[in-house]
Amino acid sequence: MADGETTPPEGGSRRLLKRLSGVMAEPGDGQTRLDRIVQLISDSLGVEVCSIYLRRGERTLELCATEGLKAEAVHMARLQVGQGLVGRIAEREEPVVTADAQNERGFRYLPETGEEIYHAFAGVPIQRLGAVLGVLVIQNRDSRVYTEDEVHALEVIAMVLAEMTELGAFLGEGDVDVAGAHKRPFYAAGVTGQEGAAMGVAYLHQPRVNVQNPVAEDPAVEAARLEAAMDALRGEVDDMLSNDLLGHAGEHRAVLEAWRLFAHDKGWRRRMMSSIESGLAAEVAVEREQTSIRARMERIPDPYLRERMHDLDDLSNRLLRKLAGDDPAREVPEGAVLVARNIGPGELLDYGKNLAGVVLEEGSIGSHAAIVARALALPMVIQAARITTEARSGDRILVDGDAGAVHLRPDDHVLSAFKEKISMRAQAQEVYEGLRELPAISLDQQRVDLLMNAGLLTDLPSLAPSGADGVGLYRTELQFLIRAKVPKRKQQADLYARVLNSAGDKPVTFRTLDIGSDKVLPYMKRDEEPNPALGWRAVRVSLDRPNLLKMQVQSLLRGADGRGFNLMFPMIAQASEFEEAKAIVRGEIERHRAAGRRAPAWLNIGAMLETPSLAFAPDNFFESADFISIGGNDLKQFFFAADRENERVRRRYDTLNASYLSFISLIVERCAAVGTRLSYCGEDAGRPLEAAALCAMGLRTLSMRPASIGPIKRLVREIRFDELRAEIEAGIEAGEVNLRARLVDWAKRTGAPISS
Ligand code: PEP
Ligand code: MG
Repeated sequence: MADGETTPPEGGSRRLLKRLSGVMAEPGDGQTRLDRIVQLISDSLGVEVCSIYLRRGERTLELCATEGLKAEAVHMARLQVGQGLVGRIAEREEPVVTADAQNERGFRYLPETGEEIYHAFAGVPIQRLGAVLGVLVIQNRDSRVYTEDEVHALEVIAMVLAEMTELGAFLGEGDVDVAGAHKRPFYAAGVTGQEGAAMGVAYLHQPRVNVQNPVAEDPAVEAARLEAAMDALRGEVDDMLSNDLLGHAGEHRAVLEAWRLFAHDKGWRRRMMSSIESGLAAEVAVEREQTSIRARMERIPDPYLRERMHDLDDLSNRLLRKLAGDDPAREVPEGAVLVARNIGPGELLDYGKNLAGVVLEEGSIGSHAAIVARALALPMVIQAARITTEARSGDRILVDGDAGAVHLRPDDHVLSAFKEKISMRAQAQEVYEGLRELPAISLDQQRVDLLMNAGLLTDLPSLAPSGADGVGLYRTELQFLIRAKVPKRKQQADLYARVLNSAGDKPVTFRTLDIGSDKVLPYMKRDEEPNPALGWRAVRVSLDRPNLLKMQVQSLLRGADGRGFNLMFPMIAQASEFEEAKAIVRGEIERHRAAGRRAPAWLNIGAMLETPSLAFAPDNFFESADFISIGGNDLKQFFFAADRENERVRRRYDTLNASYLSFISLIVERCAAVGTRLSYCGEDAGRPLEAAALCAMGLRTLSMRPASIGPIKRLVREIRFDELRAEIEAGIEAGEVNLRARLVDWAKRTGAPISS
């Protein structure tokens, strides 16, 4: 567009885009296409220079084609991301427009290009969904300011270039190897969600849509497609909201409310329609908006707003899938490693055992999704930055759950080192198997019962091979989470019967329904709460809705059919709640008997100690409980006032803090004073150093994921609890806040095997 020309921007850019897609369709190698493209752009926009810089490696941008700058600079001129105006555009993911480039802050002169004579400069990132693939620049000699329309046209062109890059348009003979084209190895250092190693293929929870032709053949057709997809999307979101069952995916109401707002947002629709007017295909118009959302998302410090941006991002994915045609029958391939931004426990259970591992871009170690991953023994890495942007379904992926690391598209060297690691693990497993029949007795002759945590029928086969002495925590809510409706009494009773069958003569402790907080039943309508972890959950729900508890107790009694079992209530915060819940259970036993059914041979009723308040309950509470189990995951979150799902605060506080261990010791004393059995069933019971410290503080029953039983048994058999207790007391005496360093030293000195 020359000075003063009044061609409407849409018409102009549309013509240009058509010609661009023509270039794509022509035969030729990557370099020839790029050369044609810069020529086309400079002709159509009436600019003296048009250049394309593409990413090479992690941080380098290389001039790959130019019209106007010196031809010999192509593939020679390079900049680092962040350097000069071009580097700044790539780093900040936003355009730079200036009438006088030389005097713009950060300008860096590349002598080989001969660009010193050009003053006017406009550059935009070539990016797709958070991945910057390069930079598109136009320049002119005179000090003019490019108009908004011109910059808009440039952005639209850049969008098409990004799609072309992704389609591999610049690959082939005479390759232009584009770094961002999801071909290179990518490494993400995250956090351990669940130990273990997995090797498989990435499977995106929200798959990318492949855009075959980024340019609209006919904008009216594209506009109609977008309108229809948005209509369908709005209908779907409205349905989910008005439907009592809240859909099957378990979406939270707050997310749905946000989706509804966005789905009806006129600005969003208008911006997408205007991209279509400019000549983009409907999918690319959606992605253009999504790209700018992602760029903004990374810069927003406020977690609430960031979350809402994520909601909009998720909604855009849905819209894209509507445009592409939903594909409900996606098969999870063998050895799939699930890659997601985040996932709820119910959704993860839906994938179940089909997975080899899980990688989350966000996620938290204290979340129930992580617990489900543990129950399924799935190696899991959380907080793996950019993984959903970098991964493509089908990419080879290695999950190192021990180190909290992910290797995507690894090179051969990494791959063989990883295989080595997997075989070392298998060897360690053999050592643990050798201990299976032996008791966990410490060198100072203290016996510890090692029980396993479970929640799915598929967990039960692990009971015998793990060498567990029984099931210390059966999370009954998992059965409720994987269904679209409350399981019927018969279904529940069948499940409990099968659990007891598989356990044989080993004891099982069933925990009554523990829902609320992040365990949201998709079919249960509930009010939004400001602090769900502190809200209406666990036994509070059972006491307010006793029918659910009654039905569960009846199912347990029927499933047990005369066999004995342990029953415990989650999150008892005050003694009276325990009494109330017990009264409901007693009532059901009476009814069961009165109906002529067999009552259990024995029934121990216990409470989970998950709030500090219960540690200070009156003596008669400790006397009346048959047993107490410390739910350390929740207890720790309430003790330190640090949300177990919020990595930022969770990691500040260590189980091996003197304060927490002293508190555990107080609970041990209170139980010991009245002879009540005590166990610990939070995740820390399965972590070697933590488990050793808990034993030193007096715990003699630990319940953990089955895979931890071998390593913990080996550890118990090789240490003295009295020695470790003395070490802890010395640390407390010395006023140390965190005893971890001291305990690691102790382990080194004594040779205690603390790596699992
Ligand atoms: C706990 O809080 O430690 C516990 C075992 O219960 P959950 O993790 O299921 O909340
Ligand atoms: Mg709990």
